[in-house]
Amino acid sequence: MSTPITLVWLRRDLRLHDHAALAHALTLPGSIQPVFVFDEAILAPLRSGTPESALTADRRVSFIHQSLESLGEELAEFKGSIIAVHGLATQEIPRLARELKASHVVYAGDDEPDALLRDATIESSLATLGIKMVRVKDQCIFERDEVLTGAGGAFSVFTPYKNAWLKRLEADPGAIGARDCSGLAGRLARHPSALPSLASMSFDQAAQTGLKAGSKGAQALLQDFLGRMGRYRQARDFPSVRGPSYLSVHLRFGTISVRELVRHARTFIQSHPAEAEGAQTWLSELIWRDFYMQILWHHPHVVGASFRPEYDRVCWLEENEEFARLFSSWCEGKTGYPIVDAGMRQLNESGYMHNRLRMVVASFLTKDLGIHWKYGERYFARHLNDFDLSANNGGWQWAASTGCDAQPYFRIFNPVSQSERFDPKGAFIRRYVPEIASLDDKHIHAPWLAPALVLQASGVELGRTYPNPIVDHAQAREATLARFAVVKKKA
Ligand SMILES: Cc1cc2nc3c(=O)[nH]c(=O)nc-3n(C[C@H](O)[C@H](O)[C@H](O)COP(=O)(O)OP(=O)(O)OC[C@H]3O[C@@H](n4cnc5c(N)ncnc54)[C@H](O)[C@@H]3O)c2cc1C
Repeated sequence: MSTPITLVWLRRDLRLHDHAALAHALTLPGSIQPVFVFDEAILAPLRSGTPESALTADRRVSFIHQSLESLGEELAEFKGSIIAVHGLATQEIPRLARELKASHVVYAGDDEPDALLRDATIESSLATLGIKMVRVKDQCIFERDEVLTGAGGAFSVFTPYKNAWLKRLEADPGAIGARDCSGLAGRLARHPSALPSLASMSFDQAAQTGLKAGSKGAQALLQDFLGRMGRYRQARDFPSVRGPSYLSVHLRFGTISVRELVRHARTFIQSHPAEAEGAQTWLSELIWRDFYMQILWHHPHVVGASFRPEYDRVCWLEENEEFARLFSSWCEGKTGYPIVDAGMRQLNESGYMHNRLRMVVASFLTKDLGIHWKYGERYFARHLNDFDLSANNGGWQWAASTGCDAQPYFRIFNPVSQSERFDPKGAFIRRYVPEIASLDDKHIHAPWLAPALVLQASGVELGRTYPNPIVDHAQAREATLARFAVVKKKA
């Protein structure tokens, strides 16, 4: 009889250490073959808008491709390989499992509705072949029903969720234990397979502006951040400062383990009591990630609708010429509000946007332009390297005040005071909006308030070299309060 083989289907866990699916496969008899599918169901929408004869450059696809190249090299050191194919996962996984005579397919779960549907389809195809599909948890620390209220319901407010999460971790420290993959050498099957080229999938190599893929890229960022973790709380809100970890894309594709990050945060808290606040705040951000994932699991309706159904009664700007003008100004970073424009240009140029600016630009789209959050959510989904349905939807509904534990609708960010507070010297604005870089620190936040002589001396001609503001914030604020009155009346 031939030795059994387990396929480990890599998805959002593109690494070889502290890896739940590989660790589980190691407990099963026989050899292990890692596989990856460039899933046409995901790739096809990314190509939309590109002429058929041209290649699409997508930073995420390039990131995955580079990460798989590194993974292949690491596996080769263990005398193993990765089988990477291009097609529909719903067809390719059952095909590979059948051809390789697998006994099991092990994968890390993902609670996005489309992923759940895809996995259920594959599970039933495998079942007809007599192959077992095994789901393990890897993306988050606690999922689904693992952290519930005392009454057994799902949390919809963050702080009590966080407290319950921390309590659960005290009771179950194994939740962040490293998943042992040390036995991989000697257990790997080595089916020869070449990585499909980007061009063969109609993609081009995308420019990555300093982003390094794979586990090595993730570890380099982590090492850099460990020295700054203690200052995170003070530094994280200032986009021109290297405050956050920039690890989100690595968390997205699992080139780093979230358990490893939580272990680091906890060790830091214990070993640096004077700077513990920084690490505690950072740990809270990782808990926000779990929080939004469990919101998506318990309330999948958030994908297309407001978390709080009464907020679906809010009348947003209708799609018309005016809408198109405002929305494209926002997308292109040409609203005339420098901090908004700097944030949008950072996204367009790099695929990353600082968290403070995500809040500012999301608030601007929904509360200043009156545009439904779903348009901004979709734009972010297309452009963010770290796009994650649960965090993105949560962030957008938070900013639009339609979500769980969202900011109240009457709390409307003023883009000028946000700019003055979080980019006081305009350093970030100068980097991304060079056409107003010569303005002084006072006027760079609101060029339309600068005296004509100051504008002239700085080479700024409003309406020509840089836009006039596309809306008046004070008027927009009033319009938003009126728009949300429909919710207030009912409350
Ligand atoms: C409108 C909007 C959209 C967003 N879309 C996404 C998204 O698609 N993907 C995404 O990962 N994050 C999203 N966020 C959350 C946050 O902005 C990013 O996680 C963060 O900016 C990533 O940078 P970092 O890795 O340097 O974060 P750090 O500050 O170093 O935080 C560490 C990690 O914690 C997690 N995290 C931090 N803040 C949040 C949060 N508010 N919600 C959930 N997880 C969080 C991320 O995984 C992040 O990598 C969004 C926020 C807003 C307001």
